[in-house]
Amino acid sequence: MSPKFVIGVDVGGTFIKGALVNRGGVVKARAKELTGPLEEKTRVANRLVSVIRRLEKSAKTEGQIGGVGLGLAGLIDLRRGVILTSPNIPVWNHFPLVDALAKTMDYPFFVENDANAAALGEMWLGAAKGMDTFFFLTLGTGMGGGLILDGAIWHGADGMAGEVGHMTIQKDGPLCNCGNHGCLEAYASVTALRRMVSEAIRSGKKTLLSPDLENQAVDGRAVYRAAQKGDRVACEAFARMGSALGVGIANLINLLNPEKVVLGGGLCHAWRFFIAPLRQEVKQRAFAPVARRVKIVRAAVGEDAGILGSALVAWRGLELMGS
Ligand SMILES: [Zn+2]
Repeated sequence: MSPKFVIGVDVGGTFIKGALVNRGGVVKARAKELTGPLEEKTRVANRLVSVIRRLEKSAKTEGQIGGVGLGLAGLIDLRRGVILTSPNIPVWNHFPLVDALAKTMDYPFFVENDANAAALGEMWLGAAKGMDTFFFLTLGTGMGGGLILDGAIWHGADGMAGEVGHMTIQKDGPLCNCGNHGCLEAYASVTALRRMVSEAIRSGKKTLLSPDLENQAVDGRAVYRAAQKGDRVACEAFARMGSALGVGIANLINLLNPEKVVLGGGLCHAWRFFIAPLRQEVKQRAFAPVARRVKIVRAAVGEDAGILGSALVAWRGLELMGS
């Protein structure tokens, strides 16, 4: 009997979110567990098992679920299902997750990087529906990326391609979390916005934003709200972010000649504060015929992109296995 559903799971640093998804991308049931970066690795894995078990119950009849797709942050050894480095759940560094799961349930598991999964979600049902060649960037605490070339994720030699956030934009630029200087992520992420605001405050510029921004758990929303009130420091930070993104995106456009560039993640709420400088840089730097063709748009699936993309990874994996 061919399966009716797969389970797609988006494993984040705060939530593990899963859904029962049919072949058409319709979500039939959902389950969610809270998690934390300080939990031990087996505990987080147990929460993941609990999400899958709850979704199994929703499917009612046995044998209807064909497999499980997992979207995971960090560098993943896709073939072995081992998380090499996990920025959101550090206890999972070098954790053979798929082996651990396979001990408790006998589904085929399919693993994908979370940004790649979100890119697939946008291709399946979102802003890049029906597109073959596009790239997806997610703007959050850090920056993720997924390259879709000829309808498939470009994985590279080791499954680690698409780390667009760590392309160098400025040779001697600010220090990035990865240890390099001047990465795109160091200009276009919540972390980058906080740094830019702190620098402005230290240099004596007036702003509505708190001077101890660095010590607070402030997300991009605070900077966004200040920009809405016309705060110059916040607006300048978004403009610098847009400009840096435009440089990075122009490089990618010249390299890949995509049909679309899709931008997702929480910082897209501030779209109107960074899109003009972004487009300006692209216009200036990308080759004219390529730049005229490409559309730069906001993601459409939103928070479900990771779940749906992980489900698509499972459907495609099952197809390759012949189910
Ligand atoms: Zn970096």
